[in-house]
Amino acid sequence: MADVIVVGAGLAGLSCAIGLQRHGLTVTVLEAADEVGGRVRTDLVDGFRCDRGFQLLNPSYPAVRRYVDLPALELQSFAAGVAVGGDAGTTTVADPRREPRLIGRSLLSGYVRPLEVARLAAWAAPALGPVPRLLGGRDTTLAESLDDAGVGGRLRDEILEPFLAGVLASDDGSTSAAFVRLLLRAFLLGTPGLPAAGMSALPRQLAARLAEPVRTGVRAEAVTGCSVKTADGELTARAVVVAANPTAGLTDLPRPRMKGLRTYWFATEEAPRADKLLVVDGRRNGPVLNTAVISNVAPSYAPPGRHLVQATTLWPTDATEAEVRIQLTRLYGRSAGAWDLLIRHDIHEALPEQPAPLVTRQPVALGDNLFIAGDHRDTASIQGALVSGHRAANAVATALSS
Ligand SMILES: Cc1cc2nc3c(=O)[nH]c(=O)nc-3n(C[C@H](O)[C@H](O)[C@H](O)COP(=O)(O)OP(=O)(O)OC[C@H]3O[C@@H](n4cnc5c(N)ncnc54)[C@H](O)[C@@H]3O)c2cc1C
Repeated sequence: MADVIVVGAGLAGLSCAIGLQRHGLTVTVLEAADEVGGRVRTDLVDGFRCDRGFQLLNPSYPAVRRYVDLPALELQSFAAGVAVGGDAGTTTVADPRREPRLIGRSLLSGYVRPLEVARLAAWAAPALGPVPRLLGGRDTTLAESLDDAGVGGRLRDEILEPFLAGVLASDDGSTSAAFVRLLLRAFLLGTPGLPAAGMSALPRQLAARLAEPVRTGVRAEAVTGCSVKTADGELTARAVVVAANPTAGLTDLPRPRMKGLRTYWFATEEAPRADKLLVVDGRRNGPVLNTAVISNVAPSYAPPGRHLVQATTLWPTDATEAEVRIQLTRLYGRSAGAWDLLIRHDIHEALPEQPAPLVTRQPVALGDNLFIAGDHRDTASIQGALVSGHRAANAVATALSS
């Protein structure tokens, strides 16, 4: 019998198990799926690496810096900017500190209007200050917060909001402004990228640190006290951590509302752009929130001589693949009609909602040596999942030592 059973081998469950091991406790991790990773998985399709929903690893996340061996992941970085699709092709707006070569293009883009930039910079400024101060002020919805700060014009309508819609899996402005500033902080302090072997390399790296391999293909059917019922019988430990996805229903906690995303992965013979920029549609003229030539950023995602393009929309959606291809054709300035669809991922529950006011640290101890971990207890992100796992591990260690 292990000291602790962890249910779920997503990032929260894995980081929790590692934390428990560091406290000298023995751990059994049960995972219903056939592989670790939860919402961070990668499918291999015809030699292409297609992450289960387009996502990025930000090396500036404090928990990533602390708990992840980043060099081993061989992160391949995006350019620090966006290409904005408009009526006359795309224009580039990039961070002048990290992409000095693109300053000229940014200045000519038509988006760098002094008043709009100044107001946006003033609104975003807390993102670069101390986190406690960022979280300490009054929190409202993103839309209200931008309105109050007078942030508007093309910079907001055609860059900020289309970009954030893909990051937040939401385009209604209802997300907590404090959460958005936390995400902006990560984007301003680090340039996100993709591991050479796909996003699944991240959870695999964590799983490899466990003394007892994760028991995959084992679903927890019910958790009662310190016992976990599975199809093969009941397991008991001194404590149980439920690190299943937030709507798994293994505890009495209310289920958070979740937001979804759909990602199309296309194989192409030629790269439709040469750069490593994320492309957003400034006009929102179609369902695609963002698209990128992934193989420009991460050549390891495509077989030699071929290219990989992702296109992401909100989910649920009634948009058709034909509409997606039409929008991509416009954004890339060349036909996407004949691109091969490798796979489409519909992630119904990609991210828990983060309404205002933001609560970044929800309790992880549920009583009677039952604990909970997951991005829904902290923030809806890789950072939040890793932190929540370690918080739960610390809470278990304290409870078992007392
Ligand atoms: C499409 C998409 C894009 C994203 N983009 C980003 C991004 O760019 N940056 C970022 O920081 N974050 C992003 N995220 C969010 C990030 O991936 C998640 O916040 C994080 O992976 C959540 O980890 P978790 O461990 O809390 O939950 P999960 O990954 O959901 O893990 C829960 C695990 O529990 C298992 N499980 C469930 N029920 C049972 C059961 N009964 N018995 C046993 N096992 C069970 C599941 O199979 C799963 O493995 C994105 C997510 C998605 C889906």
